Amino acid sequence: MTAIGVDLGGHKIAAALVEDGRIVERISEPTAGREPDGILNQIAAMVKRLGACAECPVGVGIPGVLDAAREVALLLPNFTGWNGLPIRKMLSSKIGLPVELENDANCYALGEGWGGAARGMTDFILLTLGTGIGGGIVVGGRILKGFHGMAGEPGHLVVGSGEPCGCSSHGHLEGISGADALERTAKSMGLQPDLKYLWTRRTDPSVAPLWDRGLDHLAKGIASAIHLFDPQTVILGGGMSRGEGFIDVLKPRVLDYLALPFRKTLDLRPSQLGNDAPTIGAAALTRK
Ligand SMILES: [Zn+2]
Repeated sequence: MTAIGVDLGGHKIAAALVEDGRIVERISEPTAGREPDGILNQIAAMVKRLGACAECPVGVGIPGVLDAAREVALLLPNFTGWNGLPIRKMLSSKIGLPVELENDANCYALGEGWGGAARGMTDFILLTLGTGIGGGIVVGGRILKGFHGMAGEPGHLVVGSGEPCGCSSHGHLEGISGADALERTAKSMGLQPDLKYLWTRRTDPSVAPLWDRGLDHLAKGIASAIHLFDPQTVILGGGMSRGEGFIDVLKPRVLDYLALPFRKTLDLRPSQLGNDAPTIGAAALTRK
């Protein structure tokens, strides 16, 4: 199957022609400002350059919260002025074709399912370990949306208590084990807030407590998610997951928190598609 996938980001827009889970042609452009009309026109022009046609449907990954019907933007942190806009209809009329929308982290998960680390799987969890912690949950081959459309937010699993989170609540995984939070903690410990460097020094007595706390809470979050969803695999993406040996170090910690019957099933693996996953997953939205 061939489809066009678009990943809208704060700094760039990636669009690609995707065939059976693989990118066969791609375009990438800097995001033109923040105005909805300008950006939607830019997306429409990119899609046309890729040769959109009735047989080549279009899916778009959006960096924020959409309503349950995936029609309206509810909250796009990097794009003020978009809230409440019927983006799906607006884009569809500009392109002249039906368009599917989904949150970009959910697209990331769908991409790994179509052509990446979870290829052929029906039940899996994705966590992206970046500045914050995002993710998506696929159950029975479908992205888990929840009643209000907000399901699948592993970054806000409650694994702590008082630690502030960017979502305005506290005690959430992202506010403890997200890269921003770890860098803040590093600073408060008098360490250089460079996680790549600190990962290479992770056994140093001055650095070990930082990772011990971050990985312990991450392991709690992953184990909790496994107990809830019994997935075939848990995929880790994002900068932090690419640290050498990251999964090998994390795995025993997750095992330690798993109930006995789940221990034999643990499968933790790295993202295969990396930055291409959201684009491929956006195209996957059009698979029926
Ligand atoms: Zn939160």
